[in-house]
Amino acid sequence: MGEQNNNGRLNYQEKENFRALLETDKIDRIEDRLKIVDTFLETEEHVTLEELQKLLKKRGYDFDPEFVMQCMNRMVDLGFAQRKKFEGQPIRYEHRHLGRHHDHLICTKCGRIEEFEDPEIEELQRKVALRHGFQMLQHKMEIYGLCSECLEQRKPILPLAMAKAGETVIVRDIQGGMGAKGRLAAMGLRAGQVLEVISNNGEGRVIVGRDCSRIALGRGLANKIMVSPTEKDSLPECKETA
Ligand SMILES: [Zn+2]
Ligand SMILES: [Zn+2]
Ligand SMILES: [Zn+2]
Repeated sequence: MGEQNNNGRLNYQEKENFRALLETDKIDRIEDRLKIVDTFLETEEHVTLEELQKLLKKRGYDFDPEFVMQCMNRMVDLGFAQRKKFEGQPIRYEHRHLGRHHDHLICTKCGRIEEFEDPEIEELQRKVALRHGFQMLQHKMEIYGLCSECLEQRKPILPLAMAKAGETVIVRDIQGGMGAKGRLAAMGLRAGQVLEVISNNGEGRVIVGRDCSRIALGRGLANKIMVSPTEKDSLPECKETA
């Protein structure tokens, strides 16, 4: 059941479809080619030839890169794969699903490629084309920028003791020995929590708001809590409890 099996069935159909076309064209080494097809269909990623070669090696197949490339080109020609050239990246291949379309978000820092589908954007593009008396046959929508993980990593991490009053921060890590960790855990402080720095004058205690109550932290403990700045609206809305 589920996605995995559906994919398995679909991939099997795709493979058999590809086999039939190869047989019609009287192509040699069909079984070897189908091993490449199998490996490719199973990833459902945007792979480079090199990455595909590695996946094949993992399965114990050591094909000539030229042969793999030839096979992928045939998959593109026959409509099983699409060749993608994202800016600043090597050529990649992805499975071409019949009757389905998606667009891409590309991270210019780590190279991550995310897919999205948005009916409104699709409709808008059709309308733009129409307005120009243009019949749209295909399009590419590529959004370049920083992915959420890269954005997160760009934010500085500092000890809570260095955060300024009025700042909203998110706990990234709790450092220190068992003692400090134990005391902070007893207070319920853990990574992922959002804190509002209420007062911190550079010495003495740091007062923070968390989950609608205030906690006083000694300087030593406040130095063990690693935080990074975050948006004010990540704080919970505090209501009177009945
Ligand atoms: Zn699109
Ligand atoms: Zn990234
Ligand atoms: Zn894609």
